[in-house]
Amino acid sequence: MEFDLNKILRDNIKKLVPYSSARDEFKGDATVFLDANENSHGSPLPDSYNRYPDPLQWEVKKKLSKIKGVPPQNIFLGNGSDEAIDILFRVFCRPGIDNVIIPSPTYGMYEVSANINDVEIRKVSLSGDFQLNIEAISENISPLEGDREGATKLIYICSPNNPTANSFDREDIEIILNNFNGLVVIDEAYINFSKQKTFVNELTEYPNLVVLQTLSKAWGLAGLRVGMAFASEQIINVFNKVKPPYNINVVSQRLALEALNNIDQVNAWIKETVAEREQMVLALVQLPFVKKVYPSDANFILVRMNDARQVYDYLVKNGIIVRDRSKVMLCEGCLRITIGTKEENVVLLNSLKEIK
Ligand SMILES: *Cc1c(COP(=O)(O)O)cnc(C)c1O
Repeated sequence: MEFDLNKILRDNIKKLVPYSSARDEFKGDATVFLDANENSHGSPLPDSYNRYPDPLQWEVKKKLSKIKGVPPQNIFLGNGSDEAIDILFRVFCRPGIDNVIIPSPTYGMYEVSANINDVEIRKVSLSGDFQLNIEAISENISPLEGDREGATKLIYICSPNNPTANSFDREDIEIILNNFNGLVVIDEAYINFSKQKTFVNELTEYPNLVVLQTLSKAWGLAGLRVGMAFASEQIINVFNKVKPPYNINVVSQRLALEALNNIDQVNAWIKETVAEREQMVLALVQLPFVKKVYPSDANFILVRMNDARQVYDYLVKNGIIVRDRSKVMLCEGCLRITIGTKEENVVLLNSLKEIK
């Protein structure tokens, strides 16, 4: 397998001259900054936010680098993972020409983002046990070489997968990485809850690999909107060229950095969530209307039951909101339940036990 980034990049992105901000053009120490049309007086707030943020968020990346074991120049930060997902479509997929493969069911944002960017989606159904169908994926790939009609540029692999909660077999993912000359995007939003090993440490092995992670789930920072992409420096440079110059605001950068110093708290919560998840699985299978509780490698459980919609409505009446996935392919009759605190999980179970 020959991987050449230049063969999959759109021409307009190759030629793009990126915006150069005041902070790009002068870096260093000075006493008077009159280069960015900021308000030098300050902000009408207790703290000052009058200065633009670091466009490349180096402090946050250096801290992440230590935690993940990935050099800072191999990290991109986005306004949520959703920004990285969107950038991938914009820089690699020619609208109305190229296509992407999305093993389904999975996270809905890949499809929405593809549609916004007018990129053809090839959904390939997972197997009955929610694993990748390698043969079907391979059959759906349009080759890059000499293809004016459109090529398959990206394959989205969400592992652990939302909403099915399982991880895909590592050997299957490796087969795709070894044989596909577009990009393999592995979304590891739930990796902290998984028994599986992350792919972030395989970047030198696979030049076609992009790993997505987020501070929104295990790190408890969904409100800050900070997502990460890990890839070769070459790929990260393309991301940086295309992103809005100041995509992560000063407050999010500062608080993300502070949170990253609190890894012990996060690890304790992960342990608790995983223990609660195993308890919840045992309790849910006891319920008479539950048909199947799928094994979970994430902080949620997919549960198949008789009349999922009725159970959903009943829970809503009791002030408990779960996710109805019963209209999703292969998830017919299923609800997706996030693992909450011990107290929340008890409230949910007690409510479910009332159902006749
Ligand atoms: C929740 C989730 C994300 C996180 O998105 P953010 O924009 O970073 O909040 C990414 N991928 C999957 C599969 C998710 O479920």
